[in-house]
This record gives sequence, structure tokens and C-alpha cells, in this order.
Amino acid sequence: MIDESIFLNKTAAYYTLGCKLNFAEISDLGRQLSERGIRKARAGETADICIVNTCTVTELADKKCRQAIRRIRKEHPHSFVVATGCYAQLKPEEVAAVEGVDLVVGANQKTDILEYIAAGEKISVTPTREIEKFVPSCSEDDRTRHFLKVQDGCDYYCSYCTIPFARGKSRNGAIADLVRQAEQVAAAGGKEIVLTGVNIGDFGKTTGENFLDLVRALDTVSGIDRFRISSIEPNLLTDEIIAFVAHSKRFAPHFHIPLQSGSDAVLRLMRRRYDTAFFRAKIEKIRELLPNCFIGIDVIVGMRGETADLFQETADFLTALPFSQLHVFPYSERAGTKALDIEPIVSPQDKQLRSNRLLDLSAEKRRAFYRSQQGTTHRVLFEHAHKGNRMHGFTENYVQVEADYRSEWTNELREVTLERLNADETAFAVDGFNFSIH
Ligand code: SF4
Repeated sequence: MIDESIFLNKTAAYYTLGCKLNFAEISDLGRQLSERGIRKARAGETADICIVNTCTVTELADKKCRQAIRRIRKEHPHSFVVATGCYAQLKPEEVAAVEGVDLVVGANQKTDILEYIAAGEKISVTPTREIEKFVPSCSEDDRTRHFLKVQDGCDYYCSYCTIPFARGKSRNGAIADLVRQAEQVAAAGGKEIVLTGVNIGDFGKTTGENFLDLVRALDTVSGIDRFRISSIEPNLLTDEIIAFVAHSKRFAPHFHIPLQSGSDAVLRLMRRRYDTAFFRAKIEKIRELLPNCFIGIDVIVGMRGETADLFQETADFLTALPFSQLHVFPYSERAGTKALDIEPIVSPQDKQLRSNRLLDLSAEKRRAFYRSQQGTTHRVLFEHAHKGNRMHGFTENYVQVEADYRSEWTNELREVTLERLNADETAFAVDGFNFSIH
């Protein structure tokens, strides 16, 4: 039993690295700690407790986490610094060795943090418990969009990936509980929910339900104007899901799909569960049913075994594909993965060149998509965050719109005709005499 009085008047600062799932989880942890009397530290205020939710998706992510911890220690010299999340789960000893860490807690043990703090644990690696529980979370308030965790873990074991080791087996919340969480978001004034998870299309493993049923149930939640499906594996994005989104008033025409390679040979090395013909058919299906849909695609460059010819196959495949944007990730060596047995290795210089080529292609596709939207009318959800006197928001099909800051527009849906693209064609401007708003 903890003496709760020790938390009174304490402050905590939260840092999160990596994916939307991490964001949802740290947000939820912040809410739980505030219920116990621990106030969120204001910007610039020194906190009593700092919690870093780490990511281990690449070697670079590990490095960024170590840097973040050291920086946080400098900014909060007398604080109790806790590292949790995927990197802490996968390599607790390595994280504990970072200068400035007081406590390392496994990914699924965040709720135990206060118990450890109360016990005065220092520089200790807590025993990593088996990851099997689904811990629900949904981010609140921090941003206009709410991130609802519907699933966790992954059973796929792609050859380059350590996420299944860090996150455990695929598991999920029950549809009835997730609908309740979405209703709570609506009651609190939330308008947009992004469904998050590690492999969300695999939803239902632990409850005997499936992703389409989840989407159908959420679609009935009144008060939420928009749902977005975050990244979904192509083999799990069924034609039924695409057709449902096409007819739904609430599910946004926006898909984010990991391709990873446009070469069948590399896809086999990666142990992915589809080939390029299947992927192309999926994208064509989306375009047929949702011509204005924003389609983001993940791709990894420089995977072991990706020769110059095989990379060229990827570049050619993507050039011919009607998508809206790429997320390009240079391949990163991860200890314990099957990919380490593959030859040849791609040099860092070649990885960089390939990455630049695809980033150029991505910018071209994005510009073309934005131009295709010129003159169309959409509902834009303007966000809380603003830079100086400018604010921004997104249309349902994920086109960015900027405007002069007006506090009454935050978290509000406004109907906007997309007229004027900014100079680099990355957003439409809505201001002064250039805007047309209803
Ligand atoms: S689907 Fe593959 S890449 Fe995605 S988390 Fe699972 S193992 Fe990793």
C-alpha cells in the first residue's frame, strides 16, 4: 500500500518518442498520475518526475532516446528520471546504463511506476514481466486528434523488425470497451479519433472479433466527426474495409499502408505476406472507390539483399503507383533479427542515395495530389497548436490547410474551399482576401 500523500504537490514531465501508440500510452499515463495528485509540469518548470517513453524501431531511435534522457537529466537535475516503453523493454540494461536514468520500467509496467518511486528505487532495472495483457489507452487534450489504442503487439516477425520482441503477441481491447472510450472522447469535446496499434488489421485475436466489426461499431458513435485508421498491413486491409470507408460519413478517406519494398525478391527476404501485384491491386481498389483518398506508403531502403537492380524495381513500382506520400525509412540493423543473415549489405552512402531518390518521388507525388485537390471544398479540423499567428488543420483526406490564428477556430470544423497553394505546395493558405470560408 503506497502512502499517496508523498505525491501531493509533485510535478511530472512527459516525453515520448516514436509512434502514435507511444503517444497514446504516455498521455494515458499522465492522466492516471494526475488523478493521483501529480500535476503536469508547465513549460520551463523543473519537474520532480520525468517519464520518457522510449522507441526502438531503428538504431537511430535508440540513439535519440539516449540523447533525450541525457538532455532531460540536464534540464531537470534533481528529478527522478524513469525510462519506459519499447527500448526499455527490449534492452533494459542498455537503457539503465545511460547517464541520468533512475529507473527502467518495462513497456507493460507503466502503471507500476508510482509504486517503484514510492519504494525509492534508484538505478534499477525492474524485472520484465511477460507481455500478455492489453493495457487500454487513449490520449486526451494534448492535441486536437485523439489516439485510441485498439490493439497491441504483433505475431508477424518480419525479418528486419524487433517490435514483436518489444511489444509481445498480438492482443486487443473488446469492441464494447473501445466504443465506450470513443463515447468518452466525444463527451469531452473530441472530434477526431485515430485508431492506433502495432498491427491494427490483426485486431480481434484475443476477443474473437475482427477489425471490420470494430470499424462498423465505432462508426455509430455520435459526436465524433472523424475516425482515421492509422497504418494497416496491406494483406489485412480487405476490400470490405475499403468499401466500408468509402460509404462511411465518419471514417476519413485516408490510408497509411506499409509496402516496405517494391521488389518481390526483397519482400520475400523481409518475410512480408504479400507481393507487389497484390499491393498494386489494393491501391487500385482504393482509388476506384475513393478517388480523393490520401494514400501514404511506408518504404524501407537499403535492406540487406537489396541490390541496385532490386532497388530500381522498387523505384519503378512506386513511380507507377497512384499514392499521395511516402514515408521513407533507411534499413537499420537490429540485433536478434533474421535479416542479419542476409547478404549483401548496402553501404550507408547507397542507402542515403536511395532514400533521397524516394524522398524526391514522394514530394512530387504529394504536390500532384495537392494540385488535384485545388478548387474542391472540404471540412477542415483546425488544431490547438499554432506557430506565432498561424494555425493549421487537415481536411478529411489529410490535406494541410493554414490560416491566421483565431482561437475560436481551434478544434472546430470549418468548410473551406482549397484555392491557394503555398510556395512549396505543402499546404493551402486560408487568409486575408485569399480565403473562401463558409
Ligand atoms: S508487421 Fe512486421 S514490421 Fe510491422 S510490427 Fe509486425 S513484425 Fe514489425
